[in-house]
Amino acid sequence: MTPMPVELLACAPADVIATLSRAVQRAKGPDRLAPVTVVVPTNVSGVMARRSLGRGAGILGVDMVTLNRLAELLAGPGLAHAQRQPISNPLLELTIRRVLDEAPGSFATVAHHPATVVALRELHQELRLAGEGAADRLAISPRGREAVRVSRAVTRMLQRRWYDEADLVQGATRRLRTERIAGLERLVLHLPAPFDPLSASFVRQLAADRSITVVLAFTGDDAADHEQFRLLAQLDIGAPITTPEPVADAAQAASSRPLRIVSTTDADDEVRVAVRTVIDAARGTLTGRPVPFERIALLWPSQRPYARLVAHHLTTDGIAWNGPGGAALHERIAPRLLLDLLDVDRRGLERRGLFELLADIPVRGPGGEPVPTAEWERVSRRAGVSRDEDWLPRLGALTEHPRWGAAAHGLLEFIVELRTALGHPHATRPWSEWVAWCDEQLTRWLGPGAISRFSDSEYRAWEALVRILEGIRSLDAVAEPVTRSRFRTVLENELADANVREGRIGTGVTIGSLASAGGLVIDVAVVLGAVEGLLPPAPRSDPLLSAADRQRAGLSSPDERAHRLHHEFAAVISSAQTVITLPRGDLRTTTAHQPTRWIESPAPTTDIDSSMHGVTQLEFPPSERERRLRDRLRTRARSGTLSPTDPIVDADVATRRALTLAAARQRDHLTEFDGDLTSVGPYPLAAAAPDPSAPRPVSPTQIQLWASCPHAYFVRYLLGVLPVDEPDSNLSINALDRGLVQHDVVDALHRDVLDGSLPQPTETGWTDTHRAALLEHFDRQCDQALRSGRTGRPATWASERQRMRGDLLEWFRRDGEIIRAHGATIIASEHRFPDDELGSGVALALTDGRHLAMKGSIDRLDRWRDGRLVVTDHKTGKSDAFRKLSEADPTLAGTVFQLPTYAAAALAISGGPLGHRPPLRAEYSMFERGRYQRIGIDFDADVWSRVAADLTDIVTGIEAGWFPPTPPAPGFRFSTECVFCEPDELGTTDAHARWTAKRNDPRLARWFGTASDDPVGPSDD
Ligand code: SF4
Repeated sequence: MTPMPVELLACAPADVIATLSRAVQRAKGPDRLAPVTVVVPTNVSGVMARRSLGRGAGILGVDMVTLNRLAELLAGPGLAHAQRQPISNPLLELTIRRVLDEAPGSFATVAHHPATVVALRELHQELRLAGEGAADRLAISPRGREAVRVSRAVTRMLQRRWYDEADLVQGATRRLRTERIAGLERLVLHLPAPFDPLSASFVRQLAADRSITVVLAFTGDDAADHEQFRLLAQLDIGAPITTPEPVADAAQAASSRPLRIVSTTDADDEVRVAVRTVIDAARGTLTGRPVPFERIALLWPSQRPYARLVAHHLTTDGIAWNGPGGAALHERIAPRLLLDLLDVDRRGLERRGLFELLADIPVRGPGGEPVPTAEWERVSRRAGVSRDEDWLPRLGALTEHPRWGAAAHGLLEFIVELRTALGHPHATRPWSEWVAWCDEQLTRWLGPGAISRFSDSEYRAWEALVRILEGIRSLDAVAEPVTRSRFRTVLENELADANVREGRIGTGVTIGSLASAGGLVIDVAVVLGAVEGLLPPAPRSDPLLSAADRQRAGLSSPDERAHRLHHEFAAVISSAQTVITLPRGDLRTTTAHQPTRWIESPAPTTDIDSSMHGVTQLEFPPSERERRLRDRLRTRARSGTLSPTDPIVDADVATRRALTLAAARQRDHLTEFDGDLTSVGPYPLAAAAPDPSAPRPVSPTQIQLWASCPHAYFVRYLLGVLPVDEPDSNLSINALDRGLVQHDVVDALHRDVLDGSLPQPTETGWTDTHRAALLEHFDRQCDQALRSGRTGRPATWASERQRMRGDLLEWFRRDGEIIRAHGATIIASEHRFPDDELGSGVALALTDGRHLAMKGSIDRLDRWRDGRLVVTDHKTGKSDAFRKLSEADPTLAGTVFQLPTYAAAALAISGGPLGHRPPLRAEYSMFERGRYQRIGIDFDADVWSRVAADLTDIVTGIEAGWFPPTPPAPGFRFSTECVFCEPDELGTTDAHARWTAKRNDPRLARWFGTASDDPVGPSDD
């Protein structure tokens, strides 16, 4: 082979820019305006080199391009003229699938596995750049022959209408052979890596009739310079190395630069060290002079976990950065919207899935206005929507509702539109139609002009998405129409492979892969993850070819990436002030790490024992958060503890409050942090006299809640926080809806009697006419429940309906017996109070002479033959909880107040002076689950005084401000009844321990007794 007529300028990594400047000046010669093209390794290095040259000898007439871009500039117009388009990964993969479908060969058993297709695609791309000779050599072995067969078949199918990188390089080489390109007379190859065979031919052709200068950096370490020597051999450079001295000096230069090595617990702490190093460098404490952010780089050997961690910490600490970091492309708004939308009805259009999407994306209505997501979420929950089939019946039932109608209507329209847009999940469309669908949905969901509202990062993501969709659009030529799910898979894979930079190159700290560090012009570098397994990386094996196959074909060896990393590692150390961080382990995989073998000199290592240790050592914290943390830790180290009264803490509101809270919770008595709000009360509930305008009448359940748990009362009634109930996708009607149907049927029968449509029951009880009316009402209520979608699956509903009918008829029979026995007359049904007719309202007396205004609803009020007023409260649940109810204990030790409240309301309805009011009874009337029992109380003066005493206790506790949580002992439960103290629903162990510690506060004894009074609960064991 004839030596390539190029000039080599070898230099130490620290002298790269000076050498490049010299190369450019030599290329220009005496003509300062002569055009020079500099081929750079990456765009980032091109920008940095341009800026550096601009500050020195000038860049007039200097173009910076990568080798790929140069090939594209030369060959692109010709390929476009031939109406060929660039090949995308999905196009290649679909073509490979077609080839395998037609002739799977030895891939038959794995032909449809995505990993097979990806491996064949990667090998095809490598083979294309390796040239036909490589393919011929590979085809000698059976395994290689199969891979080459697929690759050549793919090339044949695509080459007429598409082009790849190999086509570009070959096209550029051909053009150079036949044409003299103006402006390309002088060329500098800046820090090139070894070329693939086609690119080597391209460079050789470039060198054929123009002057080429190669700038190459040597570290002075032969092992680290392995790739540089390989390049020299590849170029077969005949010209002498003109400046050999810097090469010899490089190792010495590197060893004379103090290297800092920091050992940390894990990657998270490494990144914290890196950010602190950035701040130290910017302040000038690292190098003795301030270093601008754009001359600092944070470099990693592997994208995971560093890319995300570095981007996160820099952003959190407000430091500008640029590079491939931060959120993945599919996490950005526009790509995420499409992926979620394409998948939203995977298991049918479920309520939860839709609202996860709506909560995630700033969706717009057809007019571009934001949709009322929160209101729609509430109305759908109110309607009980859970599954796909619930939307129309359940929301439809609410469209006339005065409060929810408008929201239900708007959401229904949206659902119908969404369903139309999605179409049937198994419907197929051509790829280009799916792309058009995506365009349409982006505009529809994000609103016109959405792009103008995007942040810089979101805009870049949107641009990348548009590019990807353009690539997918052309798949119609090679693939059949596809389902939505198949289209989504391809789009998702493309998004996962896309590489999107954030920030502007040259603005802020540069972050990125160590492998791409060649050409960075920096003064300070932090190299993260300098441990075995990452530096050098574990070798990757080829799933398709053996090492011998690859070597014979001249394909890249598994060691090439390690050689490249080694060179960049050594080059960074010798050209910039470098801090190397070593994670001692990976807490995610619980593995220990060894430092990289590439740190030869026994440089002193700073050990950071823990995250806390690192913060304590900080001279200048990079953020306000770390400064506060450091100050607190130092104070604690000095005085052994941190006290809220410490002067340094006193000035820090957040820490002071946190310490005050922690200390309060340690005490053995209740404090304002666990339920003692007596110092900020009172919380008035009762009034001096029965008064219909008394503030906020309370329901019996409100009072009962304080009795069962004061903290739950506090959260619900004073803070106004309600747990969100998720509608279930029940197989059958749930207990609540079943109870509502039964209540409504019974109420409808009573109202027929009250409005005269039916007569009062006779002395023999209910009649057949009443029975017929009852069943008519039952059918109507059941049909309504069915229409509103609350009845579960049809199969279970049929038998459940039959059971409810039987239950209702049995209640009707037994109720008739009561009516007959007592000569009952119905005088009210579902009577809500207070109401306008009730004059003085409904109030329960307290022992201190005050009254508590009450509200509620009486299910039924009768007058019996003996003159008694009888209140009935229907219960469709079990009766066990009320078994012990009696005149002697009318509130079950101050825990239930429904019957006294309804009894008071009945007295108010009956009117008349107090002394002449009729005798009164109140009863629970059970259905089947309560074995049709009637449990009740006859109210007299003694009963009322017991009620007053029990109620006074509770009202006093509430008004005083006692709201401690009283969780049950931990133990196995099927479900969580209250989530206020355990929103994670992981049990009450901690909450119960805290309550137990405070349990014996003597101020609580009046309401909660002592710990010895507690029932023994189940244990976690
Ligand atoms: S979780 Fe238990 S202790 Fe906490 S508020 Fe609810 S009932 Fe009270």
